[in-house]
Amino acid sequence: MTVYDLHCHSTASDGRLTPTELLQRAFEQGVDVLSLTDHDTVHGLAEASIAAEQCGVTLIPGIEFSSQWERRGIHVVGLNIDLNSEVLASAVTAQLAAREVRGQLIAERLTKAGVQGALAGAQNIANGAVLGRPHFAQYLLDQGRVKSINEAFKKYLGAGKPGDVKSLWPEMEQVVGWIIAAGGVAVLAHPSKYKMTRTKLSSLVSDFAVSGGQALEVSSGLMPPGSTATLARIAADYNLHASCGSDFHFPGHKWQELGQFSPLPESCVPVWDLF
Ligand code: MN
Ligand code: MN
Ligand code: MN
Repeated sequence: MTVYDLHCHSTASDGRLTPTELLQRAFEQGVDVLSLTDHDTVHGLAEASIAAEQCGVTLIPGIEFSSQWERRGIHVVGLNIDLNSEVLASAVTAQLAAREVRGQLIAERLTKAGVQGALAGAQNIANGAVLGRPHFAQYLLDQGRVKSINEAFKKYLGAGKPGDVKSLWPEMEQVVGWIIAAGGVAVLAHPSKYKMTRTKLSSLVSDFAVSGGQALEVSSGLMPPGSTATLARIAADYNLHASCGSDFHFPGHKWQELGQFSPLPESCVPVWDLF
């Protein structure tokens, strides 16, 4: 049986393995088909494609776009995208600019919360990768403001906290349009992570499908295992294909290892039928 992992991160965004190390680890974990889906960048994919060839893993070019829907932060994964697409290139440029402004806003809010030097600190940790909240979290940890990355999100960066800035992201519909224009398949990422009621989630999935979204991440390393069956039903309700991925960021996260997540239920139509 072919093992697919269609969601993970490298040092091009907030992952800790280089694209080469990531492909090596995917191979060791028995993954046959991997999609590297860094946040708002395709910068890691050139290296990933060389490494994939070397270790015999099939690489699907991917990206995870940040967006908003009804003022909530929503992630949309684009799979099997054309890296030569001009729409993709300008989308990535726009997202990078939004991330920079967002980074400044997060830093300003952290200053008001009594944390100095967060922008330079987080940029230093990002070391050239696209700047994200995990880099701010690491800075808060290094400064001794929190005892763990988790606590950094709970106190400073998570939903509803001072560093939660999502106003700069484009609407979900627009992001889905970018992915389609780049010849890719738009996948609504980790639906249970948004902690919505079933009614709200249905409304989100409905809007996503109307926008041209084609798949739902029915199984993710981030999700409680029980939610897979529910998400498979929602995917079926809206005629969406099913995707699966670990959302791996770094080794040692036991619920986010490459290739490790609940199998897709039999009833699902897998997203790779569209590749
Ligand atoms: Mn991340
Ligand atoms: Mn995500
Ligand atoms: Mn992710």
